[in-house]
Amino acid sequence: MKVNQAEIVISAVSQKQYPNENLPEIALAGRSNVGKSSFINRMIQRKSLARTSSKPGKTQTLNFYKINDSFFFVDVPGYGYAKVSKKEREAWGRMMEEYFQLRETLEATVLLTDMRHPPTEDDIIMYDFLKHFEIPVLVVATKMDKVKKGKRDKHIKIIKEALDIEPEDHLVTFSAETGEGKDEAWKYIRKFL
Ligand code: GDP
Repeated sequence: MKVNQAEIVISAVSQKQYPNENLPEIALAGRSNVGKSSFINRMIQRKSLARTSSKPGKTQTLNFYKINDSFFFVDVPGYGYAKVSKKEREAWGRMMEEYFQLRETLEATVLLTDMRHPPTEDDIIMYDFLKHFEIPVLVVATKMDKVKKGKRDKHIKIIKEALDIEPEDHLVTFSAETGEGKDEAWKYIRKFL
Protein backbone atom coordinates (compact mmCIF):
# COMPACT_ATOMS: atom_id res chain seq x y z
CA MET A 1 0.00 0.00 0.00
CA LYS A 2 1.37 3.37 -0.95
CA VAL A 3 0.52 5.90 1.73
CA ASN A 4 0.28 9.39 0.30
CA GLN A 5 -1.56 10.97 3.15
CA ALA A 6 -1.56 10.40 6.88
CA GLU A 7 -2.78 12.81 9.49
CA ILE A 8 -3.99 12.63 13.04
CA VAL A 9 -7.61 13.69 13.07
CA ILE A 10 -8.45 13.44 16.76
CA SER A 11 -7.31 12.05 20.07
CA ALA A 12 -10.59 10.89 21.56
CA VAL A 13 -11.55 9.76 25.03
CA SER A 14 -15.21 9.07 24.39
CA GLN A 15 -17.63 8.08 21.69
CA LYS A 16 -18.94 11.54 20.92
CA GLN A 17 -15.46 12.59 19.83
CA TYR A 18 -14.98 9.76 17.31
CA PRO A 19 -14.87 10.89 13.67
CA ASN A 20 -18.20 10.49 11.89
CA GLU A 21 -16.93 10.10 8.34
CA ASN A 22 -18.01 6.49 8.16
CA LEU A 23 -14.63 5.24 6.95
CA PRO A 24 -13.42 1.74 7.88
CA GLU A 25 -11.14 1.48 10.90
CA ILE A 26 -8.26 -0.77 11.87
CA ALA A 27 -7.45 -0.62 15.57
CA LEU A 28 -3.95 -1.21 16.92
CA ALA A 29 -3.54 -2.72 20.36
CA GLY A 30 -0.62 -3.97 22.40
CA ARG A 31 1.14 -3.62 25.68
CA SER A 32 3.17 -0.49 26.31
CA ASN A 33 6.58 -0.50 24.66
CA VAL A 34 5.72 -3.37 22.30
CA GLY A 35 6.57 -1.17 19.30
CA LYS A 36 3.11 0.06 18.33
CA SER A 37 4.11 3.62 17.44
CA SER A 38 7.12 2.30 15.52
CA PHE A 39 4.81 -0.08 13.65
CA ILE A 40 2.45 2.74 12.63
CA ASN A 41 5.27 5.02 11.57
CA ARG A 42 6.95 2.30 9.51
CA MET A 43 3.68 1.27 7.88
CA ILE A 44 2.90 4.81 6.79
CA GLN A 45 6.54 5.79 6.15
CA ARG A 46 6.57 8.69 8.56
CA LYS A 47 9.38 9.22 10.98
CA SER A 48 7.25 10.23 13.91
CA LEU A 49 3.57 10.79 13.24
CA ALA A 50 2.75 8.33 15.98
CA ARG A 51 4.72 9.21 19.07
CA THR A 52 7.40 6.73 20.02
CA SER A 53 8.57 7.06 23.53
CA SER A 54 10.55 5.14 26.05
CA LYS A 55 8.07 6.19 28.71
CA PRO A 56 5.35 3.56 28.55
CA GLY A 57 1.76 4.11 29.40
CA LYS A 58 1.68 7.74 28.39
CA THR A 59 -1.09 7.88 25.85
CA GLN A 60 -4.54 7.40 27.31
CA THR A 61 -6.55 8.44 24.26
CA LEU A 62 -7.77 6.74 21.12
CA ASN A 63 -5.75 8.36 18.34
CA PHE A 64 -7.44 8.37 14.94
CA TYR A 65 -5.03 8.58 12.01
CA LYS A 66 -6.66 9.11 8.65
CA ILE A 67 -4.80 7.32 5.88
CA ASN A 68 -5.12 8.21 2.19
CA ASP A 69 -8.53 9.71 2.95
CA SER A 70 -9.89 6.17 2.87
CA PHE A 71 -9.54 4.55 6.29
CA PHE A 72 -8.38 5.11 9.87
CA PHE A 73 -5.71 3.53 11.98
CA VAL A 74 -6.97 3.79 15.55
CA ASP A 75 -4.13 3.67 18.03
CA VAL A 76 -5.52 2.47 21.34
CA PRO A 77 -3.55 3.11 24.53
CA GLY A 78 -1.01 0.47 25.49
CA TYR A 79 -1.73 -1.81 28.40
CA GLY A 80 0.27 -3.69 30.98
CA TYR A 81 2.09 -0.73 32.40
CA ALA A 82 2.37 -1.39 36.12
CA LYS A 83 2.57 2.21 37.28
CA VAL A 84 -1.00 3.23 36.54
CA SER A 85 -3.54 3.79 39.27
CA LYS A 86 -6.65 1.68 39.70
CA LYS A 87 -8.71 4.69 38.60
CA GLU A 88 -6.72 5.06 35.38
CA ARG A 89 -6.99 1.37 34.68
CA GLU A 90 -10.76 1.48 35.10
CA ALA A 91 -11.06 4.51 32.82
CA TRP A 92 -8.94 2.66 30.26
CA GLY A 93 -11.21 -0.41 30.50
CA ARG A 94 -14.34 1.66 29.97
CA MET A 95 -12.83 3.42 26.98
CA MET A 96 -11.78 0.10 25.41
CA GLU A 97 -15.18 -1.47 25.92
CA GLU A 98 -17.02 1.52 24.56
CA TYR A 99 -14.90 1.44 21.42
CA PHE A 100 -14.61 -2.28 20.72
CA GLN A 101 -18.15 -3.16 21.66
CA LEU A 102 -19.95 -0.39 19.82
CA ARG A 103 -17.86 0.84 16.93
CA GLU A 104 -19.58 -0.29 13.75
CA THR A 105 -16.87 0.92 11.39
CA LEU A 106 -14.21 -1.19 13.14
CA GLU A 107 -13.18 -3.85 10.61
CA ALA A 108 -10.27 -5.54 12.38
CA THR A 109 -7.62 -5.14 15.06
CA VAL A 110 -3.87 -5.50 14.79
CA LEU A 111 -2.68 -7.03 18.06
CA LEU A 112 1.03 -6.48 18.56
CA THR A 113 3.09 -8.80 20.69
CA ASP A 114 6.83 -8.78 21.35
CA MET A 115 8.40 -11.63 19.38
CA ARG A 116 11.24 -12.04 21.87
CA HIS A 117 8.95 -13.20 24.66
CA PRO A 118 5.88 -15.40 25.12
CA PRO A 119 2.66 -13.35 25.14
CA THR A 120 1.88 -11.79 28.51
CA GLU A 121 -1.29 -12.53 30.45
CA ASP A 122 -2.55 -9.13 29.28
CA ASP A 123 -1.91 -10.06 25.63
CA ILE A 124 -3.96 -13.23 26.09
CA ILE A 125 -6.79 -11.31 27.77
CA MET A 126 -6.74 -8.76 24.95
CA TYR A 127 -6.94 -11.44 22.26
CA ASP A 128 -9.82 -13.15 24.06
CA PHE A 129 -11.57 -9.80 24.54
CA LEU A 130 -11.39 -9.11 20.78
CA LYS A 131 -12.61 -12.59 19.93
CA HIS A 132 -15.47 -12.18 22.40
CA PHE A 133 -16.66 -9.29 20.21
CA GLU A 134 -15.97 -11.37 17.06
CA ILE A 135 -13.42 -8.88 15.76
CA PRO A 136 -10.96 -10.22 13.16
CA VAL A 137 -7.39 -10.00 14.47
CA LEU A 138 -4.04 -9.77 12.75
CA VAL A 139 -1.31 -10.69 15.23
CA VAL A 140 1.92 -8.82 14.58
CA ALA A 141 5.00 -10.17 16.33
CA THR A 142 7.29 -7.15 16.70
CA LYS A 143 11.05 -6.67 17.01
CA MET A 144 11.82 -9.75 14.87
CA ASP A 145 15.28 -8.32 14.18
CA LYS A 146 16.07 -9.07 17.82
CA VAL A 147 15.32 -12.79 17.45
CA LYS A 148 17.94 -14.95 15.74
CA LYS A 149 16.75 -16.47 12.46
CA GLY A 150 17.12 -20.03 13.74
CA LYS A 151 14.86 -19.31 16.70
CA ARG A 152 12.04 -17.49 14.93
CA ASP A 153 9.87 -20.51 14.11
CA LYS A 154 9.97 -21.61 17.72
CA HIS A 155 8.95 -18.17 18.96
CA ILE A 156 6.09 -18.00 16.44
CA LYS A 157 4.81 -21.37 17.61
CA ILE A 158 4.89 -20.27 21.25
CA ILE A 159 2.93 -17.11 20.46
CA LYS A 160 0.32 -18.94 18.38
CA GLU A 161 -0.17 -21.56 21.05
CA ALA A 162 -0.31 -19.16 23.99
CA LEU A 163 -2.90 -16.93 22.30
CA ASP A 164 -4.68 -19.98 20.92
CA ILE A 165 -5.04 -18.12 17.62
CA GLU A 166 -8.16 -19.00 15.68
CA PRO A 167 -7.66 -20.50 12.20
CA GLU A 168 -9.01 -17.41 10.41
CA ASP A 169 -6.57 -15.09 12.18
CA HIS A 170 -3.04 -14.66 10.83
CA LEU A 171 0.32 -13.86 12.37
CA VAL A 172 2.93 -11.68 10.71
CA THR A 173 6.47 -11.17 11.99
CA PHE A 174 7.62 -7.58 11.78
CA SER A 175 10.58 -5.31 12.31
CA ALA A 176 10.18 -1.55 12.44
CA GLU A 177 13.97 -1.44 12.33
CA THR A 178 14.39 -3.18 8.95
CA GLY A 179 10.88 -2.96 7.49
CA GLU A 180 10.59 -6.75 7.23
CA GLY A 181 6.97 -7.88 7.38
CA LYS A 182 5.60 -4.56 6.20
CA ASP A 183 4.29 -5.78 2.84
CA GLU A 184 2.75 -8.86 4.39
CA ALA A 185 1.06 -6.79 7.11
CA TRP A 186 -0.39 -4.49 4.44
CA LYS A 187 -1.58 -7.50 2.46
CA TYR A 188 -3.75 -8.64 5.37
CA ILE A 189 -4.85 -5.15 6.40
CA ARG A 190 -5.95 -4.38 2.84
CA LYS A 191 -8.20 -7.43 2.92
CA PHE A 192 -10.05 -6.01 5.94
CA LEU A 193 -10.81 -2.71 4.22
P1 GDP B 1 4.95 1.65 21.93
O1 GDP B 1 5.00 2.06 23.37
O2 GDP B 1 4.27 0.33 21.76
O3 GDP B 1 4.40 2.69 21.00
O4 GDP B 1 6.46 1.34 21.50
P2 GDP B 1 7.49 2.19 20.64
O5 GDP B 1 7.15 2.17 19.20
O6 GDP B 1 7.67 3.53 21.30
O7 GDP B 1 8.80 1.29 20.81
C1 GDP B 1 9.33 0.99 22.08
C2 GDP B 1 10.84 0.78 21.95
O8 GDP B 1 11.10 -0.37 21.15
C3 GDP B 1 11.56 1.94 21.26
O9 GDP B 1 12.82 2.10 21.87
C4 GDP B 1 11.72 1.45 19.82
O10 GDP B 1 12.83 2.01 19.16
C5 GDP B 1 11.88 -0.05 20.02
N1 GDP B 1 11.39 -0.82 18.85
C6 GDP B 1 10.15 -0.77 18.33
N2 GDP B 1 10.03 -1.61 17.28
C7 GDP B 1 11.23 -2.20 17.12
C8 GDP B 1 11.75 -3.17 16.20
O11 GDP B 1 11.08 -3.70 15.30
N3 GDP B 1 13.05 -3.56 16.38
C9 GDP B 1 13.82 -3.04 17.37
N4 GDP B 1 15.09 -3.49 17.46
N5 GDP B 1 13.38 -2.12 18.25
C10 GDP B 1 12.09 -1.70 18.13
